[in-house]
Amino acid sequence: MKLLIRGGRVVDPSQDLDETVDLVVEEGFVAQVGGGRARAGRNAEVFDASGLVVTPGLIDMHVHLREPGHEYKETIGSGMAAAAAGGFTAVACMANTDPVNDSRSVTEHMVAEAARHDTARVYPIGAVSKGLKGEELAELGEMAEAGIVALSDDGRPVESSELMRRALEYSQHFGLVVIQHAEDLDLGAGGVMHEGEFSTRAGLPGLPGAAEDVMVARDLILLEDFGGHNGRYHVAHLSTARSLDLVREAKSRGLRVTCEVTPHHLLLTDGEVWSSHLSTDTKMKPPLRSERDRISLLEGLADGSIDVIASDHAPHHADEKDVQFSCAPFGIVGLESTVSLCLDRLVRPGTISLSRMIELLSCNPAEILGVPGGTLKEGALADITVMSLTSRTTINPKRFRSKGKNTPFDGWKLRGRAVNTFLAGRQVGG
Ligand SMILES: [Zn+2]
Repeated sequence: MKLLIRGGRVVDPSQDLDETVDLVVEEGFVAQVGGGRARAGRNAEVFDASGLVVTPGLIDMHVHLREPGHEYKETIGSGMAAAAAGGFTAVACMANTDPVNDSRSVTEHMVAEAARHDTARVYPIGAVSKGLKGEELAELGEMAEAGIVALSDDGRPVESSELMRRALEYSQHFGLVVIQHAEDLDLGAGGVMHEGEFSTRAGLPGLPGAAEDVMVARDLILLEDFGGHNGRYHVAHLSTARSLDLVREAKSRGLRVTCEVTPHHLLLTDGEVWSSHLSTDTKMKPPLRSERDRISLLEGLADGSIDVIASDHAPHHADEKDVQFSCAPFGIVGLESTVSLCLDRLVRPGTISLSRMIELLSCNPAEILGVPGGTLKEGALADITVMSLTSRTTINPKRFRSKGKNTPFDGWKLRGRAVNTFLAGRQVGG
Protein backbone atom coordinates (compact mmCIF):
# COMPACT_ATOMS: atom_id res chain seq x y z
CA MET A 1 0.00 0.00 0.00
CA LYS A 2 1.33 3.40 -0.98
CA LEU A 3 0.22 6.78 0.25
CA LEU A 4 1.29 10.16 -1.06
CA ILE A 5 0.78 13.11 1.28
CA ARG A 6 1.05 15.90 -1.20
CA GLY A 7 2.01 19.53 -0.83
CA GLY A 8 1.97 19.88 2.96
CA ARG A 9 4.33 21.97 5.08
CA VAL A 10 6.33 19.21 6.73
CA VAL A 11 7.59 20.27 10.16
CA ASP A 12 9.91 17.67 11.64
CA PRO A 13 12.39 18.92 14.27
CA SER A 14 14.13 15.51 14.30
CA GLN A 15 15.62 16.33 10.91
CA ASP A 16 15.48 20.11 11.16
CA LEU A 17 12.87 20.19 8.47
CA ASP A 18 10.28 22.91 7.85
CA GLU A 19 9.49 22.88 4.17
CA THR A 20 6.67 22.25 1.75
CA VAL A 21 7.43 18.79 0.43
CA ASP A 22 5.63 15.59 -0.51
CA LEU A 23 5.81 12.58 1.74
CA VAL A 24 5.58 9.01 0.49
CA VAL A 25 4.47 6.17 2.76
CA GLU A 26 4.98 2.53 1.80
CA GLU A 27 3.76 -0.44 3.84
CA GLY A 28 3.32 1.72 6.91
CA PHE A 29 6.74 3.36 6.87
CA VAL A 30 8.03 6.69 5.59
CA ALA A 31 9.61 5.86 2.23
CA GLN A 32 10.55 9.30 1.03
CA VAL A 33 10.43 12.90 2.16
CA GLY A 34 10.57 15.35 -0.73
CA GLY A 35 10.28 14.70 -4.46
CA GLY A 36 7.43 12.32 -3.77
CA ARG A 37 5.36 12.31 -6.89
CA ALA A 38 7.77 10.35 -9.04
CA ARG A 39 8.41 7.69 -6.43
CA ALA A 40 4.80 7.15 -5.37
CA GLY A 41 3.68 6.11 -8.84
CA ARG A 42 0.15 5.94 -10.11
CA ASN A 43 -1.34 3.49 -7.68
CA ALA A 44 -0.69 5.55 -4.62
CA GLU A 45 -3.57 6.86 -2.58
CA VAL A 46 -3.24 10.65 -2.43
CA PHE A 47 -3.93 12.92 0.54
CA ASP A 48 -3.90 16.56 -0.46
CA ALA A 49 -2.18 18.45 2.36
CA SER A 50 -1.80 21.79 0.63
CA GLY A 51 -2.22 24.59 3.11
CA LEU A 52 -1.80 22.12 5.99
CA VAL A 53 1.02 21.18 8.34
CA VAL A 54 2.33 17.60 8.41
CA THR A 55 4.21 16.48 11.54
CA PRO A 56 5.39 13.33 13.27
CA GLY A 57 2.43 11.81 15.11
CA LEU A 58 1.74 13.53 18.43
CA ILE A 59 2.23 11.55 21.63
CA ASP A 60 0.45 12.42 24.87
CA MET A 61 2.55 10.82 27.58
CA HIS A 62 0.13 11.46 30.44
CA VAL A 63 -3.48 10.33 30.13
CA HIS A 64 -5.94 8.41 32.29
CA LEU A 65 -8.04 5.90 30.36
CA ARG A 66 -9.93 4.61 33.44
CA GLU A 67 -10.15 1.02 32.16
CA PRO A 68 -10.20 -1.38 33.90
CA GLY A 69 -12.51 -0.37 36.71
CA HIS A 70 -14.05 2.99 35.87
CA GLU A 71 -15.40 2.45 32.38
CA TYR A 72 -18.26 4.87 33.05
CA LYS A 73 -15.66 7.70 33.01
CA GLU A 74 -13.69 6.48 29.97
CA THR A 75 -12.77 3.23 28.27
CA ILE A 76 -9.58 2.41 26.44
CA GLY A 77 -11.66 2.53 23.25
CA SER A 78 -13.28 5.93 23.92
CA GLY A 79 -9.94 7.37 25.05
CA MET A 80 -8.30 6.18 21.84
CA ALA A 81 -11.08 7.75 19.76
CA ALA A 82 -10.52 11.02 21.65
CA ALA A 83 -6.78 10.77 20.99
CA ALA A 84 -7.26 10.29 17.25
CA ALA A 85 -9.79 13.13 17.09
CA GLY A 86 -7.43 15.41 18.98
CA GLY A 87 -4.44 14.74 16.73
CA PHE A 88 -2.62 12.18 18.87
CA THR A 89 -1.36 8.96 17.34
CA ALA A 90 -0.20 7.60 20.68
CA VAL A 91 -0.92 7.96 24.38
CA ALA A 92 0.72 6.61 27.51
CA CYS A 93 -1.86 5.70 30.14
CA MET A 94 -1.42 5.88 33.88
CA ALA A 95 -1.64 2.92 36.24
CA ASN A 96 -4.29 4.20 38.69
CA THR A 97 -7.02 1.97 37.29
CA ASP A 98 -8.99 -0.61 39.30
CA PRO A 99 -7.29 -3.03 39.57
CA VAL A 100 -4.11 -1.00 39.47
CA ASN A 101 -1.73 -1.76 36.60
CA ASP A 102 0.88 -3.30 38.86
CA SER A 103 1.17 -6.76 37.28
CA ARG A 104 1.52 -8.55 33.98
CA SER A 105 -2.16 -9.47 33.68
CA VAL A 106 -3.44 -5.89 33.87
CA THR A 107 -0.82 -4.65 31.42
CA GLU A 108 -1.73 -7.47 29.04
CA HIS A 109 -5.41 -6.60 29.31
CA MET A 110 -4.70 -2.98 28.38
CA VAL A 111 -2.52 -3.95 25.43
CA ALA A 112 -5.13 -6.42 24.14
CA GLU A 113 -7.99 -3.98 24.52
CA ALA A 114 -6.04 -1.29 22.66
CA ALA A 115 -5.29 -3.72 19.81
CA ARG A 116 -9.01 -4.43 19.44
CA HIS A 117 -9.75 -0.74 18.68
CA ASP A 118 -6.57 0.19 16.87
CA THR A 119 -7.15 3.93 16.33
CA ALA A 120 -4.13 5.05 18.36
CA ARG A 121 -1.16 3.43 20.04
CA VAL A 122 -1.65 2.89 23.74
CA TYR A 123 1.41 2.49 25.93
CA PRO A 124 0.62 1.41 29.48
CA ILE A 125 2.60 2.91 32.34
CA GLY A 126 3.14 0.46 35.19
CA ALA A 127 2.74 1.30 38.87
CA VAL A 128 5.85 1.89 40.94
CA SER A 129 4.28 0.25 43.98
CA LYS A 130 1.83 -2.61 44.42
CA GLY A 131 -1.69 -1.21 44.57
CA LEU A 132 -0.21 2.33 44.54
CA LYS A 133 0.16 1.80 48.27
CA GLY A 134 3.72 3.06 48.38
CA GLU A 135 4.96 0.04 50.33
CA GLU A 136 6.38 -2.59 48.00
CA LEU A 137 7.70 -2.33 44.46
CA ALA A 138 5.28 -3.67 41.82
CA GLU A 139 6.26 -6.49 39.42
CA LEU A 140 8.51 -4.29 37.29
CA GLY A 141 10.12 -7.09 35.28
CA GLU A 142 6.85 -8.83 34.42
CA MET A 143 5.19 -5.57 33.43
CA ALA A 144 8.19 -4.60 31.34
CA GLU A 145 7.89 -7.89 29.45
CA ALA A 146 4.19 -7.25 28.92
CA GLY A 147 4.84 -3.83 27.42
CA ILE A 148 4.91 -0.97 29.92
CA VAL A 149 6.95 2.06 28.84
CA ALA A 150 7.46 3.85 32.18
CA LEU A 151 6.71 3.64 35.89
CA SER A 152 4.44 5.90 37.91
CA ASP A 153 2.07 5.90 40.87
CA ASP A 154 0.49 9.06 39.37
CA GLY A 155 -2.59 10.21 41.16
CA ARG A 156 -0.39 9.64 44.18
CA PRO A 157 3.24 10.51 44.88
CA VAL A 158 5.86 7.94 45.80
CA GLU A 159 6.05 9.21 49.37
CA SER A 160 8.69 6.94 50.83
CA SER A 161 12.23 8.09 50.07
CA GLU A 162 13.45 4.52 50.40
CA LEU A 163 10.92 3.24 47.86
CA MET A 164 11.81 6.03 45.44
CA ARG A 165 15.46 5.16 45.81
CA ARG A 166 14.76 1.54 44.93
CA ALA A 167 12.52 2.53 42.01
CA LEU A 168 15.33 4.69 40.61
CA GLU A 169 17.75 1.79 40.99
CA TYR A 170 15.64 -1.11 39.67
CA SER A 171 14.02 0.80 36.84
CA GLN A 172 17.44 0.97 35.19
CA HIS A 173 17.49 -2.79 34.57
CA PHE A 174 14.47 -2.34 32.35
CA GLY A 175 15.39 0.99 30.82
CA LEU A 176 12.28 2.61 32.29
CA VAL A 177 11.87 6.21 33.39
CA VAL A 178 10.28 6.88 36.79
CA ILE A 179 7.50 9.48 36.53
CA GLN A 180 6.69 11.27 39.76
CA HIS A 181 3.45 12.99 40.76
CA ALA A 182 5.35 15.39 43.00
CA GLU A 183 3.25 16.24 46.03
CA ASP A 184 4.08 16.23 49.72
CA LEU A 185 0.83 14.88 51.09
CA ASP A 186 1.28 16.39 54.55
CA LEU A 187 1.84 19.90 53.25
CA GLY A 188 -1.02 19.56 50.82
CA ALA A 189 -3.43 17.79 53.16
CA GLY A 190 -7.02 18.85 52.56
CA GLY A 191 -6.04 21.43 49.95
CA VAL A 192 -8.42 21.89 47.04
CA MET A 193 -6.87 24.84 45.22
CA HIS A 194 -3.57 26.75 45.07
CA GLU A 195 -2.72 28.30 48.44
CA GLY A 196 -2.64 32.04 47.91
CA GLU A 197 -4.74 35.17 47.71
CA PHE A 198 -7.68 33.49 46.00
CA SER A 199 -7.88 30.49 48.32
CA THR A 200 -8.03 32.98 51.19
CA ARG A 201 -10.77 34.98 49.49
CA ALA A 202 -12.73 31.83 48.69
CA GLY A 203 -12.19 30.44 52.16
CA LEU A 204 -10.94 27.16 50.73
CA PRO A 205 -8.04 25.07 52.08
CA GLY A 206 -4.94 25.60 49.98
CA LEU A 207 -2.34 23.35 48.37
CA PRO A 208 0.91 25.32 48.56
CA GLY A 209 3.43 25.28 45.74
CA ALA A 210 5.97 24.10 48.29
CA ALA A 211 4.19 20.71 48.43
CA GLU A 212 5.47 20.13 44.90
CA ASP A 213 8.84 21.79 45.36
CA VAL A 214 9.99 19.78 48.38
CA MET A 215 9.14 16.52 46.65
CA VAL A 216 11.02 17.47 43.47
CA ALA A 217 14.01 18.61 45.55
CA ARG A 218 14.05 15.33 47.48
CA ASP A 219 13.77 13.23 44.34
CA LEU A 220 16.61 15.08 42.63
CA ILE A 221 18.85 14.33 45.62
CA LEU A 222 17.86 10.66 45.40
CA LEU A 223 18.48 10.66 41.66
CA GLU A 224 21.92 12.18 42.13
CA ASP A 225 23.00 9.76 44.87
CA PHE A 226 21.32 6.54 43.77
CA GLY A 227 20.37 6.97 40.12
CA GLY A 228 23.80 6.01 38.83
CA HIS A 229 24.43 6.71 35.18
CA ASN A 230 21.18 5.29 33.90
CA GLY A 231 18.55 6.32 36.44
CA ARG A 232 15.95 8.54 34.81
CA TYR A 233 13.41 10.73 36.58
CA HIS A 234 10.54 12.68 35.04
CA VAL A 235 8.33 15.22 36.82
CA ALA A 236 4.69 14.88 35.81
CA HIS A 237 2.55 18.00 35.40
CA LEU A 238 5.15 20.40 36.84
CA SER A 239 3.35 23.53 37.99
CA THR A 240 5.58 25.87 40.01
CA ALA A 241 8.37 28.32 39.22
CA ARG A 242 10.57 26.85 41.92
CA SER A 243 10.30 23.21 40.87
CA LEU A 244 11.13 24.30 37.34
CA ASP A 245 14.23 26.05 38.70
CA LEU A 246 15.21 22.88 40.53
CA VAL A 247 14.87 20.83 37.34
CA ARG A 248 16.80 23.42 35.37
CA GLU A 249 19.63 23.41 37.87
CA ALA A 250 19.76 19.59 38.01
CA LYS A 251 19.88 19.41 34.22
CA SER A 252 22.78 21.83 34.14
CA ARG A 253 24.67 19.43 36.39
CA GLY A 254 24.01 16.56 34.01
CA LEU A 255 21.32 14.67 35.93
CA ARG A 256 18.94 12.65 33.79
CA VAL A 257 15.79 14.56 34.66
CA THR A 258 12.96 15.66 32.38
CA CYS A 259 9.60 17.31 33.01
CA GLU A 260 6.23 17.96 31.47
CA VAL A 261 3.67 20.74 31.83
CA THR A 262 -0.01 20.79 30.91
CA PRO A 263 -1.79 23.31 28.69
CA HIS A 264 -3.96 24.40 31.63
CA HIS A 265 -1.00 25.29 33.81
CA LEU A 266 0.42 27.30 30.91
CA LEU A 267 -2.80 29.17 30.19
CA LEU A 268 -4.80 29.48 33.42
CA THR A 269 -4.16 30.57 37.02
CA ASP A 270 -5.90 30.33 40.37
CA GLY A 271 -7.61 33.57 39.37
CA GLU A 272 -9.65 31.42 36.98
CA VAL A 273 -10.97 29.36 39.89
CA TRP A 274 -12.24 32.59 41.45
CA SER A 275 -13.58 34.23 38.30
CA SER A 276 -15.39 31.06 37.22
CA HIS A 277 -17.25 31.20 40.56
CA LEU A 278 -15.52 28.04 41.73
CA SER A 279 -16.37 25.95 38.69
CA THR A 280 -15.30 22.39 39.43
CA ASP A 281 -13.78 22.29 35.93
CA THR A 282 -10.97 24.43 37.35
CA LYS A 283 -10.22 21.86 40.05
CA MET A 284 -7.22 19.70 39.27
CA LYS A 285 -3.97 18.43 40.77
CA PRO A 286 -1.62 20.12 40.88
CA PRO A 287 -3.95 23.11 41.18
CA LEU A 288 -3.89 26.10 38.84
CA ARG A 289 -1.08 28.23 40.25
CA SER A 290 -0.21 31.91 40.47
CA GLU A 291 0.44 34.21 37.53
CA ARG A 292 4.12 34.28 38.49
CA ASP A 293 4.29 30.48 38.23
CA ARG A 294 2.50 30.56 34.89
CA ILE A 295 4.90 33.12 33.42
CA SER A 296 7.86 31.02 34.60
CA LEU A 297 6.42 27.96 32.87
CA LEU A 298 6.08 29.92 29.63
CA GLU A 299 9.73 30.93 29.95
CA GLY A 300 10.73 27.30 30.56
CA LEU A 301 8.79 26.31 27.48
CA ALA A 302 10.68 28.81 25.36
CA ASP A 303 14.17 28.26 26.80
CA GLY A 304 14.09 24.48 26.54
CA SER A 305 13.93 23.62 30.27
CA ILE A 306 10.56 21.96 29.78
CA ASP A 307 10.66 18.77 27.73
CA VAL A 308 7.05 17.85 27.14
CA ILE A 309 3.52 19.19 26.95
CA ALA A 310 1.11 16.52 28.22
CA SER A 311 -2.62 16.90 28.77
CA ASP A 312 -3.08 14.88 31.98
CA HIS A 313 -6.41 13.89 30.41
CA ALA A 314 -8.49 12.94 33.45
CA PRO A 315 -12.12 12.23 32.56
CA HIS A 316 -14.80 12.21 35.24
CA HIS A 317 -18.53 11.66 35.00
CA ALA A 318 -20.63 14.86 34.89
CA ASP A 319 -22.48 13.86 38.07
CA GLU A 320 -19.21 13.61 39.98
CA LYS A 321 -18.19 17.13 38.96
CA ASP A 322 -21.68 18.57 39.51
CA VAL A 323 -21.11 19.10 43.23
CA GLN A 324 -19.57 21.72 45.54
CA PHE A 325 -16.01 22.67 44.66
CA SER A 326 -14.51 21.11 47.77
CA CYS A 327 -16.26 17.78 47.13
CA ALA A 328 -15.50 17.37 43.41
CA PRO A 329 -12.78 15.04 42.13
CA PHE A 330 -9.56 16.58 40.77
CA GLY A 331 -8.94 16.55 37.02
CA ILE A 332 -9.99 17.75 33.58
CA VAL A 333 -9.94 16.25 30.08
CA GLY A 334 -7.41 17.41 27.52
CA LEU A 335 -6.96 15.12 24.52
CA GLU A 336 -9.31 17.08 22.28
CA SER A 337 -8.30 20.62 23.21
CA THR A 338 -4.51 20.46 23.56
CA VAL A 339 -3.50 20.96 19.92
CA SER A 340 -5.79 23.96 19.33
CA LEU A 341 -4.75 25.57 22.63
CA CYS A 342 -1.06 25.15 21.80
CA LEU A 343 -1.43 26.42 18.24
CA ASP A 344 -3.55 29.43 19.14
CA ARG A 345 -2.17 30.45 22.55
CA LEU A 346 1.50 29.42 22.34
CA VAL A 347 2.55 29.34 18.69
CA ARG A 348 0.42 32.13 17.25
CA PRO A 349 1.63 34.82 19.72
CA GLY A 350 5.20 33.60 19.17
CA THR A 351 5.88 32.20 22.66
CA ILE A 352 7.24 29.09 20.94
CA SER A 353 7.78 28.11 17.32
CA LEU A 354 5.73 25.45 15.60
CA SER A 355 8.81 23.28 15.44
CA ARG A 356 9.33 23.61 19.21
CA MET A 357 5.69 22.66 19.74
CA ILE A 358 6.26 19.43 17.78
CA GLU A 359 9.35 18.71 19.82
CA LEU A 360 7.29 19.08 23.02
CA LEU A 361 4.37 17.02 21.74
CA SER A 362 6.11 14.34 19.71
CA CYS A 363 9.92 14.07 19.55
CA ASN A 364 10.63 14.41 23.26
CA PRO A 365 7.87 12.14 24.58
CA ALA A 366 8.97 9.44 22.10
CA GLU A 367 12.52 9.71 23.33
CA ILE A 368 11.68 9.78 27.05
CA LEU A 369 9.39 6.74 26.78
CA GLY A 370 11.63 4.96 24.27
CA VAL A 371 8.76 4.32 21.87
CA PRO A 372 8.69 4.57 18.07
CA GLY A 373 7.68 7.87 16.51
CA GLY A 374 8.75 11.45 16.95
CA THR A 375 10.26 11.54 13.49
CA LEU A 376 9.38 11.39 9.81
CA LYS A 377 12.84 10.31 8.70
CA GLU A 378 12.91 7.78 5.90
CA GLY A 379 12.35 4.32 7.34
CA ALA A 380 10.41 5.59 10.36
CA LEU A 381 6.95 4.35 11.28
CA ALA A 382 4.42 6.47 9.35
CA ASP A 383 2.54 7.84 12.36
CA ILE A 384 1.59 11.29 11.16
CA THR A 385 -0.49 14.23 12.38
CA VAL A 386 -1.96 16.77 9.98
CA MET A 387 -2.97 20.20 11.29
CA SER A 388 -4.51 23.36 10.02
CA LEU A 389 -3.08 26.60 11.41
CA THR A 390 -5.91 28.75 10.13
CA SER A 391 -9.11 26.83 10.65
CA ARG A 392 -11.26 28.33 13.39
CA THR A 393 -12.62 26.13 16.10
CA THR A 394 -14.65 26.47 19.26
CA ILE A 395 -13.99 24.06 22.10
CA ASN A 396 -17.25 22.20 22.54
CA PRO A 397 -17.19 19.34 25.04
CA LYS A 398 -20.53 18.03 23.74
CA ARG A 399 -18.69 17.01 20.60
CA PHE A 400 -15.84 15.28 22.42
CA ARG A 401 -15.33 11.60 21.67
CA SER A 402 -14.08 11.25 25.21
CA LYS A 403 -16.73 10.30 27.73
CA GLY A 404 -15.34 13.09 29.90
CA LYS A 405 -16.71 16.60 29.24
CA ASN A 406 -14.97 18.29 32.17
CA THR A 407 -12.94 21.14 30.67
CA PRO A 408 -12.36 24.76 31.71
CA PHE A 409 -11.90 25.65 28.03
CA ASP A 410 -15.57 25.20 27.05
CA GLY A 411 -16.48 27.87 24.49
CA TRP A 412 -12.92 29.07 23.83
CA LYS A 413 -12.59 30.26 20.26
CA LEU A 414 -9.25 29.23 18.82
CA ARG A 415 -7.47 29.22 15.51
CA GLY A 416 -5.77 25.99 14.46
CA ARG A 417 -6.66 22.35 14.99
CA ALA A 418 -5.73 18.78 14.22
CA VAL A 419 -7.26 17.75 10.92
CA ASN A 420 -6.22 14.16 10.54
CA THR A 421 -4.08 11.40 11.95
CA PHE A 422 -2.39 8.48 10.21
CA LEU A 423 -1.35 5.37 12.06
CA ALA A 424 1.32 3.44 10.14
CA GLY A 425 0.07 5.21 7.04
CA ARG A 426 -3.59 4.37 7.68
CA GLN A 427 -6.05 7.24 8.11
CA VAL A 428 -7.65 6.90 11.53
CA GLY A 429 -8.98 10.25 12.63
CA GLY A 430 -10.17 13.57 11.41
ZN1 LIG B 1 -2.36 12.29 35.99
